[in-house]
Amino acid sequence: MSDNPIFKGSNVTPKVIARAGRISTPQYLYDEKIIVDKCKEVLAMPNAFGLNVRYAMKANSNMALLQLITDDYLCLDCSSMGEVKRAHDADIPYDIMMLTTQEVPIGEDREKLEEMMLDGLKYNVCSLRQLGKVADFAAEHDIPLSIRVHPGVGSGESSTRNTGDKYSCFGIHLTDLERALEIANDKGVIFDQVHDHIGSGGDPEKWRGNIDILLQGFVGSYFPDAETVSFGGGLREARMPDETPADIQELGRYAALKIEDFYECTGRKLRMEIEPGTYVVANSGFLITKVIDKKQTGPDGFEFLIVDGGMEVNTRPLLYGSKHPFYVVSKDGELLSSEFELDKLDPNTSKKVIVGKCCESGDSQSLDEEGHILERLMADPKVGDYVVIGGAGAYCSSMSPFNYNSHLQCREALLREDGAINVIRMPQQRKQITQNEKPLKKF
Ligand SMILES: *Cc1c(COP(=O)(O)O)cnc(C)c1O
Repeated sequence: MSDNPIFKGSNVTPKVIARAGRISTPQYLYDEKIIVDKCKEVLAMPNAFGLNVRYAMKANSNMALLQLITDDYLCLDCSSMGEVKRAHDADIPYDIMMLTTQEVPIGEDREKLEEMMLDGLKYNVCSLRQLGKVADFAAEHDIPLSIRVHPGVGSGESSTRNTGDKYSCFGIHLTDLERALEIANDKGVIFDQVHDHIGSGGDPEKWRGNIDILLQGFVGSYFPDAETVSFGGGLREARMPDETPADIQELGRYAALKIEDFYECTGRKLRMEIEPGTYVVANSGFLITKVIDKKQTGPDGFEFLIVDGGMEVNTRPLLYGSKHPFYVVSKDGELLSSEFELDKLDPNTSKKVIVGKCCESGDSQSLDEEGHILERLMADPKVGDYVVIGGAGAYCSSMSPFNYNSHLQCREALLREDGAINVIRMPQQRKQITQNEKPLKKF
């Protein structure tokens, strides 16, 4: 039997799934090849006067992946002080990180932030209060700041992932810009970068529109010292066969054209920055689960496959109604069905629903936006076979309520380009769940 990759451009084959799955399930298996190819692809985005790419580490912050992505490839976008510290713990230098956070640096964090900024951390001011807290220090040490502006319009794959419209409060709104500039002038600090991030996985047309808004509405009108313009992340990736990814080449060409126009009008050569999270890692992740039971709910009901990983390892379907591709692999490593080749299935194959092992009716890998279970076509596995959930590299491990129902955070592994499988997270031990709890009674 052939052992072809289960996903285009990947090295993950059914045999690799069985090799990893035998050790433990559920398990996230990442493909080094996909991550490296994605890094190279985003770095090759057309640009006018230089490009800097920051990986948004909240998408997946595993230490090994951060090291892989930053070695020779991308800089980092950090969403909290905790993320900056975590990346630094992975031996990544502060001077390739930018911090864009809702937190306000006070107390110990303030001291720590100063240390980090002296070592090159870029601070992206997101509120007037944050600016007030760091301006003196930045001025005293001649450290230019970045500023996140609130463009007033955004776009996300769902309303909860739109970060640019009036329902979201990220960045400094247009109506507060004059005030921000007054504070900066007063303190003697400059903004050498203007940034926004309008949402995740939204309409690429809106992403293009944002380029115009940022250049004309903000950089040109308010920020004479800006040398870099950051368009944020949110580049759409296609996980399912019927989805279309953002066209990086086309977006790059458009941005380059606009940045060149800007140069023609102003004589200013702007460097471009982007911050993809999803786009870099989403399709590198394969969540391997094992079928542990089967049930059906009568003639009007459904055929259920109960697998050993659900909302606690991938909460995106429950949170957003997101769709992920499914692969069914036998326990000895034969591909029984693939989301990308459903036409190969016997037409009499019945539709099934996949549920996890949590006590929660929304614990399914296939839900619509209202939270109803959606049936899907797939082969009929035996108990002990694997159901693999694709597109599980971004916002799965990093975002999941993994200890719900006292389940344990699971193993993560990386398929190297040479075929080796490296463990990059050991499974959690039972006692780690309760180690910080304090009992009422001594025992
Ligand atoms: C989350 C985030 C990103 C990455 O978004 P993706 O949709 O994963 O590409 C980039 N920049 C900022 C500021 C973010 O908060």
